[in-house]
Amino acid sequence: MEHVLIIGGGVGGALAHDLTLRGFRVTLVEKGELLSGTTGRHHGLLHSGARYVLHDPAAARECWEENQILRRIAPQAIEPNDGLFVALDETDLSFREPFLEGCAAAGIPAREISVDEALARVPGLNPEAKAAVRVPDGSMDAFRLALPFFATARANGAEIRPYCEVTALERRGGAVTGVQVCDHRTGRSETIGADLVVNAAGPWAGRIAEMAAVQVPIQPAPGVMVSVAGRLTHMVVNRLHPAGEGDIIVPQRRLSILGTTAWLADDPDRVTAPAAHIRRLLTLGAQLLPAVRSLQPHAVWSASRPLLRTDPALDPYSISRTFDCFDHAVRDRVEGLVTLIGGKATTMRAMAEKSADLICRKTGRNIAGRTRETVLRPYRGYWRQAVP
Ligand SMILES: Cc1cc2nc3c(=O)[nH]c(=O)nc-3n(C[C@H](O)[C@H](O)[C@H](O)COP(=O)(O)OP(=O)(O)OC[C@H]3O[C@@H](n4cnc5c(N)ncnc54)[C@H](O)[C@@H]3O)c2cc1C
Repeated sequence: MEHVLIIGGGVGGALAHDLTLRGFRVTLVEKGELLSGTTGRHHGLLHSGARYVLHDPAAARECWEENQILRRIAPQAIEPNDGLFVALDETDLSFREPFLEGCAAAGIPAREISVDEALARVPGLNPEAKAAVRVPDGSMDAFRLALPFFATARANGAEIRPYCEVTALERRGGAVTGVQVCDHRTGRSETIGADLVVNAAGPWAGRIAEMAAVQVPIQPAPGVMVSVAGRLTHMVVNRLHPAGEGDIIVPQRRLSILGTTAWLADDPDRVTAPAAHIRRLLTLGAQLLPAVRSLQPHAVWSASRPLLRTDPALDPYSISRTFDCFDHAVRDRVEGLVTLIGGKATTMRAMAEKSADLICRKTGRNIAGRTRETVLRPYRGYWRQAVP
């Protein structure tokens, strides 16, 4: 049985679930606690894909397909509350027709509703709203969506090792044959051999690639989020205009999360939450839901998107949100290493499926994936199994 070692316990680490179902032996190492990277710190939007229909239609279709699958396999993580795209001025209104056409082309069931109905559904909405389109967005809990993948992987035999940081890749004759890790709980270093190493280190994927002297098209793109106390809306509220800063409010339990900003960074360890971004999010959020104006931030945080750089565009909003995986044997003549980059929490299952398909082709296994139909174990199962 081939042994696959996965580096990174975030969205990319969901590959452990797919591979164990296909009969691989899997070890996952994560330098911190599971989900301590970007995956534990996003808005919690279950994307319908509508945000991407015009500038990133591939990502839009991926999101909508996965949105429907996640509702079946991880229902406990999802609040099926839907979302509104709201026009506040004439410029927004000019976006309405192309937006509806884009949703139709991507197969996303978007429907214009009257402003009166929008105000009835979201009483805190700006009463000056000029149009509203309802889409199948949802709220999801970042931890409760991801942990079931790890709970199920572990129940199927995966070994998951938090606080184990990869410090080097083992090489033999140019091929990657394993990793050296430092286990931060014991302070000990050890070597773990593997038939294949998967670099799923998100914004840090470039650093892992450097250990094998290869490059990967990763672009860390941080963003700030601000939560305010109180559930100001039960539906997700988006601004009906091209993707940009401060265009979404996501209800999460008794909080409302205002998001987000985006910029390009080189170092994912040096991501701050600039005061100007916080002020901007509060200002733009108040345009959608005026109650934001009288509220102070409850919490502020930032995280880095691990974007797949497919073109030299420098606008962080226009870089695609799709994903890809690379066999470095084909790309760089380095055997034994695969890298997975990009995507969203919403597309984590699909990212795992595409990577596992590649790994099956590479290892000569003809085993179909089963993650579309496999209902995941409850998130609590991860912690229960973690207790010795
Ligand atoms: C501001 C913002 C808002 C977002 N909002 C949403 C949203 O609402 N909905 C949605 O679907 N998506 C959203 N996303 C996108 C989503 O959060 C990311 O695409 C996803 O979490 C990235 O997962 P990842 O596994 O690639 O990276 P990560 O979650 O960062 O996982 C990589 C892991 O690798 C580990 N690692 C790194 N180096 C090593 C090493 N040497 N050894 C061992 N482990 C290592 C890290 O500690 C980390 O845990 C958002 C992203 C951002 C930045």
